[in-house]
Amino acid sequence: MPLEVVCPACGESDDLRGTGDGDRISLVCGRCGREWERSARPRCSRCGTEDVEPVPLAIVEKGRGTQLSVVGTRTIHLCASCDAERLARYHANRPNPLMPDALPTLPDGT
Ligand SMILES: [Zn+2]
Ligand SMILES: [Zn+2]
Repeated sequence: MPLEVVCPACGESDDLRGTGDGDRISLVCGRCGREWERSARPRCSRCGTEDVEPVPLAIVEKGRGTQLSVVGTRTIHLCASCDAERLARYHANRPNPLMPDALPTLPDGT
């Protein structure tokens, strides 16, 4: 294990098995059997750099009528080079969360 990991249920830190790569690692505790997932260090999915910035992305749902409402946010990681445009857009509107590129389709106003 490259990083210090402990079982969230019993605190075991030695008898752990990890599988998977990419941005998700599944871990199983050999002592109590607890399974959980932890995220690896965030990386850019395009160029692989770790030079990414956590950004809150708005979760938008279509409300009543033509209203779009922000129902929450989730954290995404934007790359300073691949996602420069979106990153700049976020910084321009701080502290508002970044709006997703694809919004739920609005009904025609006709
Ligand atoms: Zn355990
Ligand atoms: Zn990148």
